[in-house]
Amino acid sequence: MDIDDLARRVMNGERRALARAITLVESSREDHRAQATILGERVASSGRQALRLGLSGTPGVGKSTFIEAFGLMLVERGLKVAVLAVDPSSARSGGSILGDKTRMEELSRKREAFIRPSPSQSQLGGVARRTREVVTLCEAAAYDVVLIETVGVGQSETMVAEMSDLFLLLLAPAGGDELQGVKRGIMEIADMILINKADGELKPVANRTCADYAGALRLLRKRPEDPADFPKAMTVSAVEGNGLEVAWDEMNTLADWRREHGYWDARRANQARKWFEEEVRMGLLARLSNSAEMRSQMDRLGSRVAGGELAPAAAAHEMLSLLSGDS
Ligand code: GDP
Repeated sequence: MDIDDLARRVMNGERRALARAITLVESSREDHRAQATILGERVASSGRQALRLGLSGTPGVGKSTFIEAFGLMLVERGLKVAVLAVDPSSARSGGSILGDKTRMEELSRKREAFIRPSPSQSQLGGVARRTREVVTLCEAAAYDVVLIETVGVGQSETMVAEMSDLFLLLLAPAGGDELQGVKRGIMEIADMILINKADGELKPVANRTCADYAGALRLLRKRPEDPADFPKAMTVSAVEGNGLEVAWDEMNTLADWRREHGYWDARRANQARKWFEEEVRMGLLARLSNSAEMRSQMDRLGSRVAGGELAPAAAAHEMLSLLSGDS
């Protein structure tokens, strides 16, 4: 495969080349990994940056409906939109919460939109790792907005937040005064909370839910990387299209503010460093599991630990010296 040519065509915005590049990046074959790495270096020369938007919400809150409406609005404004998914269920079971049904039908037909389901990998870490690379491919292909969608389960939200410039939490109106069990940790990483379904009979409930979250957000520690009135809670209706433009304006206000105050670059630099460290960690783990010799040493030491012959820490120490070849 001619990687230079592929890189050039990706940067030319050729959709088929982008799809091919993504398939390459998602492959776990050793030779493909090596090519994907070179490809990543080549496309980095484009120097393009998209707005990376993370979007999380539990199944049923209206993520597909929102992305369809929001994406179409962006396309109408002349922007190119890529939609990626990080699906924790595909990592565990090979099944999928996000990907199976036909989603975002109208958006997927637009030439200016590119929609890619979650890669199936055995580990969420693997999915996140590939998705990061796909984000950079989409940026090189001149997409203006890259939306990374995930379901509100476990680690996937944090992972998506760590590859996004802005992280959005989509919620449904909730009766009563419970805050839908949204974990404090998620509130802390959210830049905007969007209460969806603010239409028809649900509208008053949505307004109340929004006020509750606005109140809860005010109680959180103020973050230096935010202007005074962020993080923010707002109502939207994906079905009626209400609030989408205001939400987009707010996202840009926040993004611009962070650019002007140096937080944008700092966040990306920090994310790049974490990505690098994660790659090293994953590479070390792969070295462990790919080598029959290392697996059998793990087994041997594991049995000795289980048999009470060796302390876990001592066994780990021995294993690590084997791995680095200094014993
Ligand atoms: P996802 O599982 O998060 O992707 O949610 P979907 O987009 O599939 O939407 C789940 C259900 O909520 C569907 O029946 C949608 O029609 C409905 N829904 C989505 N957005 C809205 C909205 O803005 N208002 C109302 N009333 N219903 C909505």
